Amino acid sequence: MKRAFTGLRKEILNIIETSQNPISAKVIQGKLSLKPDTSTIYRALKFLQEKELIVSLNTSKNIQYFYSANKPYSHFILCNECSKIEPFYDCVAFHVQEKIEREYEYKILDHFFYFIGVCKDCQNKQ
Ligand SMILES: [Zn+2]
Ligand SMILES: [Zn+2]
Repeated sequence: MKRAFTGLRKEILNIIETSQNPISAKVIQGKLSLKPDTSTIYRALKFLQEKELIVSLNTSKNIQYFYSANKPYSHFILCNECSKIEPFYDCVAFHVQEKIEREYEYKILDHFFYFIGVCKDCQNKQ
């Protein structure tokens, strides 16, 4: 039982690390060879987060997404229809960050945001 759980953690970590985009627990569940219940998956995800191997992202759609801590994403686009999420790398916030630092007298350490839209696949379905 204990060994199976360790195997599960490893399998989940592997799924997250090889995924191109951040993924939800539901998608992870679908990719697992054994089909453990959601609470078992969430326990494994919590463990991996505590070990700082993965990062979670909460969105307004009430879905939590997970991605590898090796990928320092900070900008995403989220599809409002199918809930797919993708990182993007064009930083648009740099100048805003400087302005906010001056105006609010904060030392900004990082920024993190996502755009909500409709992905190409979902647009084609409409
Ligand atoms: Zn979509
Ligand atoms: Zn940025």
